[in-house]
Amino acid sequence: FSRLFHGLTKSRKQMSEGLDEAFGCSEINDEFYDNLEETLVMSDIGIETTETVIENLKILVDDYGITKPSECRKLLADCLKNQMKVGTTDYAFEREKSVVLVIGVNGVGKTTTVGKLAAKLKKQKRRVLVAAADTFRAAATEQLQTWTNRAGVEIVTGQEGSDPAAVVYDAVAAAKARKTDVLLVDTAGRLHNKKNLMQELQKIYRILDKEYAEAHLETLLVLDGTTGQNAISQAKSFQEIADITGIILTKLDGTAKGGIAIAVQSELEIPVKYIGVGEQIDDLQKFDPDVFVDALLD
Ligand code: GDP
Repeated sequence: FSRLFHGLTKSRKQMSEGLDEAFGCSEINDEFYDNLEETLVMSDIGIETTETVIENLKILVDDYGITKPSECRKLLADCLKNQMKVGTTDYAFEREKSVVLVIGVNGVGKTTTVGKLAAKLKKQKRRVLVAAADTFRAAATEQLQTWTNRAGVEIVTGQEGSDPAAVVYDAVAAAKARKTDVLLVDTAGRLHNKKNLMQELQKIYRILDKEYAEAHLETLLVLDGTTGQNAISQAKSFQEIADITGIILTKLDGTAKGGIAIAVQSELEIPVKYIGVGEQIDDLQKFDPDVFVDALLD
């Protein structure tokens, strides 16, 4: 919790300034609700989600006959938590033989995240293999290699410009031979060439289906938490070409708008599985909506 707390310093500061103003109102009136709304929108919780939260809060305030703004703090937290109910979040790849495809556009922190995830799974005594299927950028493989060295896991690479699906094919063969528990696949993310990307992903999915059907399949989308509502539209584009089973939201330590995590899970109805709260190898945390809201509003 303390790491999360620290990672959200900027967001907590902005949130508490806004909330102090709202909760400092003398009574529950339009000004109070306007202040709250502004604070939530400023935190990138998104207009849509914010409006629903405020509506729900108004109902609870009426139901409980609350008259003082300061008594709304816990109710607000409850409303925010309720917005993120997407069922229980499953981490099957921590238990089962799995393939985890990691997708996302360049710069969002994909390589770093694959490295962090590899280290995390390794710590859990899982046998991890990483496939460097982002063959488009020369530096991508090298950078990933640095991370796999750091994490102490093996990597399968291909030539620059080679077919990503071929790398996946080789990696599957290696995973089978080495009795790997989790195969982490770092893929290219050229969303501006959506048709190509879609074909590339479909080819990878076909290979996994044919060669590695026994493995549980997970597709995690990495989004940059500092890009606010852009992250949401990026996710919507990826939703059209992949069956996303979870989201990893990075760089939450670098923004005052950490509310984006609430918007993402609420609007996309895809669980946020991890959040990145720093550049170090252990700065990847499982996302727990309740704990997150408590940290943000603390
Ligand atoms: P990629 O192009 O998507 O593979 O992105 P990289 O993994 O190369 O990351 C881009 C930059 O974001 C690097 O400087 C990382 O150190 C940084 N980064 C990634 N995740 C986080 C995070 O959670 N917090 C912070 N502060 N920086 C991060």
